[in-house]
Amino acid sequence: MIYKHDPASIKGFLEDTSNLKSGHTPGVFFPETVDELAGLLKGAAKEPRTFTIAGNGTGTTGGRIPLGDYVISTQKLDRIGEPVPLGDETAYITVQAGALLETIQKTVEQAGWFYPPDPTEKLCFIGSTIANNSSGARSFKYGATRKHIARILVVLPQGDLLDLSRGSCLADEKGLFRFSLPEGKEISFKRPEYRMPETSKHNAGYFSEEGMDLIDLFIGSEGTLGIIAEADLMLIPLPETIISCLVYFRNIEDLFLFVSLLKNPEKGLSPRAIEFFDHHSLEFLSAKYSDVPLNSEGAIFFEQETTSERKENDLDTLFSRMESCNAMTDESWLALDRNEQERLREFRHALPLLVNDWLSRQHESKISTDMAVPERAFRELFDFYRASCERQGFVYIIFGHIGNAHVHLNILPRNREEFLLAKVLYREFVGKALQLGGTVSAEHGIGKLKAEYLVGMYHESGIREMVRVKKCLDPFLVLNRGNLIPAAYLETEND
Ligand SMILES: Cc1cc2nc3c(=O)[nH]c(=O)nc-3n(C[C@H](O)[C@H](O)[C@H](O)COP(=O)(O)OP(=O)(O)OC[C@H]3O[C@@H](n4cnc5c(N)ncnc54)[C@H](O)[C@@H]3O)c2cc1C
Repeated sequence: MIYKHDPASIKGFLEDTSNLKSGHTPGVFFPETVDELAGLLKGAAKEPRTFTIAGNGTGTTGGRIPLGDYVISTQKLDRIGEPVPLGDETAYITVQAGALLETIQKTVEQAGWFYPPDPTEKLCFIGSTIANNSSGARSFKYGATRKHIARILVVLPQGDLLDLSRGSCLADEKGLFRFSLPEGKEISFKRPEYRMPETSKHNAGYFSEEGMDLIDLFIGSEGTLGIIAEADLMLIPLPETIISCLVYFRNIEDLFLFVSLLKNPEKGLSPRAIEFFDHHSLEFLSAKYSDVPLNSEGAIFFEQETTSERKENDLDTLFSRMESCNAMTDESWLALDRNEQERLREFRHALPLLVNDWLSRQHESKISTDMAVPERAFRELFDFYRASCERQGFVYIIFGHIGNAHVHLNILPRNREEFLLAKVLYREFVGKALQLGGTVSAEHGIGKLKAEYLVGMYHESGIREMVRVKKCLDPFLVLNRGNLIPAAYLETEND
C-alpha cells in the first residue's frame, strides 16, 4: 500500500473548500483493496492510531481535514462496474468509494440509465456523497443520495466488514438493531432517540426514525461510524428529454407565486429542479452574461423531464404559468437542446466562481448558510435573511434550492469588521431557523465547523444519543475524530 508523508504530497489533504487552516497529519495511506483498507483499521486500536477519511476534498465543512490523525485516502478504490438491469425498468451498478460521481453519471448515461443524485459539485467521490447523503437541484423530485442506495459495504472502525443491503436489518419496535459480523461478533444497539426536523432536506447528525433501516444510519454519518468502501447504486431509465428554463421576474411576489404553482402537481407540471437566484446573484452574473435583465428582482431555474410526445403540451403549460405570474417572458432563457442546456448549466455554475473572484479581491471569506425550514416557514426565514442583511448594509446573495425551502445566503464581507459582524448574524440565523422548526444543515453536513450548532438543534440529550451509537461501533474512537459530534462530548461520556 502506498504511504506518503512528505510535505508536498500531503499538503492537499490538509484542506477542502472550507477555510479551516489547522490541519496536520503524520501521513496519508492509499489502500488499493478493501482488504488493505480493513487491515489499516484492524490494528488501529492497538497501535494506537486514529484516522480521518479523505474523499476528493470538495466538502465545505472541514470533515476530511485531519487534526493530527493519519489520513486514509479512498482515491485508489475507484472501480466502476457495469449497470445490471433488474428487469423492472430499474438497474443497479456496483462502485467503489473513490469513483468520481461525474464518471459514474457518464458511464450509466452511456448505457441509457440515470443516477439522479446531483450535488452541484461533480468532482466528488461517490463514497463521500453517501457518507454525507449529498443532495442537489434534482433532489426536489428525487430526494437525497440515501434514496438511491441499495447496498453498502462498510469497513467498521475495528476493521470488520459489514455488507448491508437495504431491507436486511431494520430497527424493531423498541428501536433496537441486531446484526452479526462475518467473524461471528454480535452487535446490538438502539437507534438514537430524537425526532428529526420536518424539513424536506436534512443532513445534520445521525438519521433516526421509527422502523428505520440500518443502512440509513451509515448514510449521512460523515465517516464517524465506518468507511463506505463499496456501494450498489439504484438506476432508473434516462429521461428521454428535458425542458430547462431560466425565468426572470420583476416582482418577488410573482416569483413566489410561480414557485408555488410549480410545486403543485395539479397545476400540470412536475419539475425535477426548482432553483432560485436573487437580484444580487443576478448582478454578479451580469458581469459575465450581459443579457441578464437587471430590472428583475429574481429568477427561477427550472427543469422538467418530458417526452417528445408530451413536450409541446408541457411547454404550453409552462408559458401559461409564466404569463399568469407576470414573468419577464421575452428576457427568459429556454433551453431545449443539450448544447443550450449545457450553456444554462454553465451560467448557474458561474455564480460561485464570480463570487469567489470578488471575495479574493477583498481578502475575506464568505459566511454562508445551509439551513432549511419546513415549507410553511420558508417565507419568514427568507424575509428575515433579507431584512437583516439590508439593515447591516452587507453585500450578499441568496440562491439555491427554493423547491426544497432551502436557499443559501452568502454574506460577502468587505473587511474584517464586516466578517465579524456577519459571524454574529450567522448565529442569529441559526437561532431563527431552529425556532421555525428547521435544520442547521440541509445538505453540506456538520463536519468540524458546525458541531456547536448541532448541539443547539438536538440539545445535550440528542448529542449524547449520538455518542452512545458512535461508541458502540467505534469504542476506541478511531474514525473521523472531531467530525459531527463535538469532541468534548466524546471525551466525557463513559458508557
Ligand atoms: C461549489 C460546490 C458546490 C457544492 N454543492 C453541493 C450540493 O449542491 N449538495 C451537496 O450535498 N454538497 C455540495 N457540495 C459539498 C460536497 O461536494 C459534498 O459534500 C461531497 O459529498 C464531498 O465529496 P468529496 O469526495 O470531495 O469529499 P471530502 O470533502 O474529501 O470529504 C467529505 C467528508 O466525507 C468523509 N468521507 C469521504 N469519503 C468517505 C467514505 N468512503 N466513507 C466515509 N466517509 C467518507 C470525509 O471524512 C469528510 O468528512 C458542494 C461543494 C462545492 C465546492
